[in-house]
Amino acid sequence: MNAPTGTRETGPGGGPREMLRRLRDVMAGIGTPQERLDSTVQVIAHELGAEVCSVYVQRPGRVLELCATQGLNPQAVHRLFFQPGEGLVGQIAETRLPLTLAEAQKHPKFAYRPETGEEAFQSFAGVPIRRSDRVLGVLVVQHVSMRELTEEEVESLETLAMVLAEVLATMSLPGGEPGRDRGPVLIHGIRIHEGVAVGKARLHQPRVVIGGVVAEDPAVEHELLRAALADMHESLDRVMESEALSAAGEHRDVLETYRLIARDTGWIGRIRDAIDSGLTAAASVQKVRDDTRSRMGAVKDEYLRERLADFEDVALRLLRRLAPGEDAAAEQAAAEQAANGGDPFILVARSMGPAELLDYAGDQLKGLVLEEASVTAHVGIVARALDIPVVGRLAHLIDEVDPGDLLIVDGDNGQVFVRPGDDARSQFRESLAAREATRARYAALRDTPAVSRDGVRVSLQMNAGLLVDVSQLQTVGAEGIGLYRTEIPFLVRREYPDVEAQTDLYRRILDGAGDRPVTFRTLDAGGDKRLHSFVHDVEENPALGWRALRIGLDQPAILRQQVRAMIHAAGARPLRVMLPMVATVAEFRSARAIIDLEIERAASRAAGAPKNISVGAMVEVPSALLDIEALAEAADFLSVGSNDLLQFLFAADRSGERTATRYDPLSVVFLEAMRRIAVAGRSAGIDVSVCGEMAGRPLEALTLAALGYRSLSMSAVSIGPVKEAVISTDINALSEFTLYSMKKSTSSIRNRLKNYLSDRR
Ligand code: PEP
Ligand code: MG
Repeated sequence: MNAPTGTRETGPGGGPREMLRRLRDVMAGIGTPQERLDSTVQVIAHELGAEVCSVYVQRPGRVLELCATQGLNPQAVHRLFFQPGEGLVGQIAETRLPLTLAEAQKHPKFAYRPETGEEAFQSFAGVPIRRSDRVLGVLVVQHVSMRELTEEEVESLETLAMVLAEVLATMSLPGGEPGRDRGPVLIHGIRIHEGVAVGKARLHQPRVVIGGVVAEDPAVEHELLRAALADMHESLDRVMESEALSAAGEHRDVLETYRLIARDTGWIGRIRDAIDSGLTAAASVQKVRDDTRSRMGAVKDEYLRERLADFEDVALRLLRRLAPGEDAAAEQAAAEQAANGGDPFILVARSMGPAELLDYAGDQLKGLVLEEASVTAHVGIVARALDIPVVGRLAHLIDEVDPGDLLIVDGDNGQVFVRPGDDARSQFRESLAAREATRARYAALRDTPAVSRDGVRVSLQMNAGLLVDVSQLQTVGAEGIGLYRTEIPFLVRREYPDVEAQTDLYRRILDGAGDRPVTFRTLDAGGDKRLHSFVHDVEENPALGWRALRIGLDQPAILRQQVRAMIHAAGARPLRVMLPMVATVAEFRSARAIIDLEIERAASRAAGAPKNISVGAMVEVPSALLDIEALAEAADFLSVGSNDLLQFLFAADRSGERTATRYDPLSVVFLEAMRRIAVAGRSAGIDVSVCGEMAGRPLEALTLAALGYRSLSMSAVSIGPVKEAVISTDINALSEFTLYSMKKSTSSIRNRLKNYLSDRR
């Protein structure tokens, strides 16, 4: 913990607390806003012993304008601009991180502007001026000498920036309010789930705008903090004890984590330090929250990021207690959100966990847009189940959007229109109408079996992972669940579900599916699917690490508990269990022996074991492919995990931006692998299906049918398009053409297949 900053001398003008007061008096004093800002930069320069102090204000379009300076050429004020990301100032606004350099000119981002006369200054230090979640500008100090600011000096600068933010937000400077751009904005991000939607913005975490930043009396602020912490602890304890929570596993765990964080002495100590430096209790919590968020940007590890996000959430809870009443903007935002309660809305968040999204599930949730998040974000799994478009990695989203703003989410192209103009709206209406027409066409096929023109029947099943998925079975006309990913319900909880909880879950899925078969895949944890409730080692190559069946074999209790729950849930119904990432036949046999122990255990009890239990293997590791005939003999069925098989065959990360689409599943090498598996299954007389993404794409699905696959499992939305494709194709003829093309080519046969099919439609 830092020494109390109240006793620290930071410059010629006195301690930081004194400096804050002086600054506040200047800013609240007489004169025009420009005059007060001019005095402010003079005070800061003097207090920090710097030759230069400048304030850049963010204008619409995130352009930064020099609005006041002490030390640079005064002629440059209101004439010097930096585009978004341009120069050191632009970088600070974009990254929201402080920057301190002994020799500014050596930094690759340094953009020399002769009109400023800044060549005389060597060192440079800048911090973003933030208010709530918005960047209003950048505060910069420069020195003639080569000196990098100490960590404590940067902290002081950040504190000054907070005071500046408060005043800037209320000053009417020439050029209008800082940072605001109320016109239409188009933000590009990445597609997490397809689809288009329109609705009013609802913020997942309404912004809290704190009132006073500079404290009159630190003792009073310490007392305010103490009372707010006590109130928060008490309310968390109350919620934990409430009966309503006892059933809700995932929420209980989130709150338990919060309870621990809320008592974290390091965190509370940092808030106290900030109060000692002269800030109010609310501003201190805000400052520590901003610091945490800045650090979050640099953390790559998912688990750590989540822990930091938890700290952020707790800080927000505390902030709401410390800024009641002052928080006019947030109150207004909340009121607007409530007023929009009945309207379709688009959820806007910095990032979001899968369980949190489930809380919003309902008819009015039309889409989700995220400032962070990657294609593999777990929230995407829930979004897919809810079938709402999701776009992630949208830079400055939270800055740009106010509650109630109209948003168009274009999940197909990974972009979002904020406050769209007339053109975008009419384009959206057209694309929505086209989608509706297509949906209606697929809906009409719901009860038609997927039988090709020449009478080949292909069973189309769906992949699922959440209870909400099961209701889709009927809607899309899937014949069963070909892949139930059991790790998904584990992913949305913080605690590891016991046998009873698992039994309840699997039973509800079987009940929901009725007569349709369900294939339960045992836990495929590890890799990108790190469970909150499980200690995963930090691995250099998680995709090749201790994951899936490897965990089940090394810790048989996990596998046994899962199978026990499945057996209980199935009762007299048939049970299909599928093992992920089987690398060798020996692994399959060992797992089967563990499963047999559970079957024997159940058989010796009153309830008995299901009569019909099949145990299958996923084919997704190349070593299994090389021994496929033996695996087909050992297993009751096979299902190809083409996502992983493609990843491992080509050694190309399935979630990497540059690698995910680099190799074509319709390349000869991959199709040859797929053909071998189908042949092995047929020779052994067992079912072979495909449950990776490729099964859900019409051209790929037809090719698989042509290679002999008679069962495909895909996401619910793919059933319609794949069925339409099967119905309109002669599979036997396509089979001949596919095998012929595979002989004739050495690379992808996608175009050949496409041309062949389009000639016959
Ligand atoms: C696969 O690898 O293709 C598969 C279906 O499993 P998952 O995507 O869950 O790894
Ligand atoms: Mg897989």
